[in-house]
Amino acid sequence: MRIGVIGVQGDVSEHVDAVAHAIREYGHRGEAFAVRRREDLDRVDGLTIPGGESTTISKLLVKLHLFDEIVRRATEEQMPILGTCAGCILLAKDGGIQAKKTESRLLALMDMAVDRNAFGRQKESFEADLDVIGLEKPFHGVFIRAPAIVRTWGDCEPLAAYQGKVVLARQKHLIGAAFHPELSNDFRIHRWFLELF
Ligand code: GLN
Repeated sequence: MRIGVIGVQGDVSEHVDAVAHAIREYGHRGEAFAVRRREDLDRVDGLTIPGGESTTISKLLVKLHLFDEIVRRATEEQMPILGTCAGCILLAKDGGIQAKKTESRLLALMDMAVDRNAFGRQKESFEADLDVIGLEKPFHGVFIRAPAIVRTWGDCEPLAAYQGKVVLARQKHLIGAAFHPELSNDFRIHRWFLELF
């Protein structure tokens, strides 16, 4: 399997390392590499979209001619995608008032609405142990200016919440995490992603 990490902005190298580690840990064969051009995207079987700044990532995806092809592959070919933090915002169908204000284009693949600044300014970064449906032991979540998933519908399943707000959801071949599983040295969420192939 060839997993691409959208490499236009954000914590790209942490993601490449985490995916490569998970591939080894769970005995898969494959590689992880950054995707910046259309040729890179054409080589991947699945994608992760890192944290960063969702409006910037969105603009760069459009500029680099990656945006529409990601949507096409995810909808027509069920290409697996793991989006974390800004990547989770981009996966949502509804980005709330802030996405409208910034006129940010979302990939709009998952039946969920997000609130980009759900945890407020005072609490920009924090860590919390999360009970995740399907995992035996809690997952230590690292949150950095994290969004929350404020509503899900259709096929989107909420899998974990923090302070009453959904922070992890899955819809078939798509996973959105408001936190950063690539920073926890725990690859159980990556494992789910790798099992999608
Ligand atoms: N709040 C940021 C945004 O709106 C996301 C933060 C992150 O990815 N760490 O894009």
